[in-house]
Amino acid sequence: MLVLVANLGSTSFKYRLFRMDQSDGKVVAKGGYERVTDHATVIEDTLSTLQRDGIISNPDEIDAVGFKTVLGKNLSGCVIADQKAIDALDGFTAVAPAHNPPYAAGIRQFQTALPKARLVALFETAFYQWTSPAYYSYAIPKAWRDIGIRRYGFHGASHKFIAERSAELGGRDDVAEIARRLYLDGPQSIDGKPFRVISCHLGGSSSVTGIRNGVAIGSSMGFSPQSGLPQNNRVGDLDSGAIPYAMRTLGISLDEAERQLTKESGLLGLSGISNDSRDIEAAAATGNADAQLAIDANIRAIRHWIGAFLIDLGGLDAIVFTAGIGENGTNTRAEVCKNLEAFGVYLDPAKNTACRASEAIISTDDSPVKIMVIPANEELVLAREVYRKLS
Ligand code: AMP
Repeated sequence: MLVLVANLGSTSFKYRLFRMDQSDGKVVAKGGYERVTDHATVIEDTLSTLQRDGIISNPDEIDAVGFKTVLGKNLSGCVIADQKAIDALDGFTAVAPAHNPPYAAGIRQFQTALPKARLVALFETAFYQWTSPAYYSYAIPKAWRDIGIRRYGFHGASHKFIAERSAELGGRDDVAEIARRLYLDGPQSIDGKPFRVISCHLGGSSSVTGIRNGVAIGSSMGFSPQSGLPQNNRVGDLDSGAIPYAMRTLGISLDEAERQLTKESGLLGLSGISNDSRDIEAAAATGNADAQLAIDANIRAIRHWIGAFLIDLGGLDAIVFTAGIGENGTNTRAEVCKNLEAFGVYLDPAKNTACRASEAIISTDDSPVKIMVIPANEELVLAREVYRKLS
């Protein structure tokens, strides 16, 4: 099965073409465009390029297109990308203004450009569709809840891959199979001991997810990707009382408050230097106090959510680090795992230092909780879900 994974930004288009079979998938072509003003033209150009390069002889050979959609109103899961999916994206444009419009437009354009291909949307919220009302309900008036304000959770593709791979690495093939088939069969009960994982996706955008037996029980992110941990430029969790206070006291509009909370906050806002953890670590090493504060606040937030899910899960079998900072940030991993021996978490410092951007178990051999580093590959995750859905 030839699966094109389309990554659509407001001014960018990136793609990877996968050949998928039962054993897994292989990238057969990839490419991208920046400063895009007309997505329809670059989609046409992509199909011509694939033909010219001899990757396909005819666009009809592409069996499916996968879209990593973010947030749909009244719709989640791994679903056929049809008019219902477009309406769901349009319904939450105001909550995900950078993400939803390009995907809604992209689905329409692929419907025209590849009329025979099957289009599949994997919502970033999909992994959280079985969380409990007690988890996802905010304490707000019913009228607010009725318009869809609740915790959703994001980075679902990445965390679901961690659910599968951590179970394989932890010797729990039963749980790995449940996780792989989750969007086909839903959660399944298992015989014997549960498998409990806390997955830390730490990158430009970050979240922590608790996973029991292959199914998410919650995420540090809530209604929008704006929440949870401090993000690169986005605020993370903030007391709702701070926004009206800042608007009135600083004399700024709601639009300006939103701009500052999405563009000038998070690690950038705290450090005052950069939104990139490498720059922040370098500045902290030279004694910059604001850079050190950004690091400390981020570590504290990650540990806060690990603590929350440790209690909710009733114990722990693995902590996993993934994405740019999770895979490369040896200091971050060491600080996050510090003084957790009482909970069975023993980091092996040498294994931690040796592991960069590769899969590894970095806990001591006898650590009751395994600490894992698992590289993220969101395009492959998407291609796999499309393949599972359609085969
Ligand atoms: P992502 O969004 O997963 O691409 O991750 C981006 C983040 O990963 C940025 O904050 C980078 O600073 C961080 N990152 C990437 N490579 C490294 C590295 N070698 N060491 C530390 N952080 C890194």
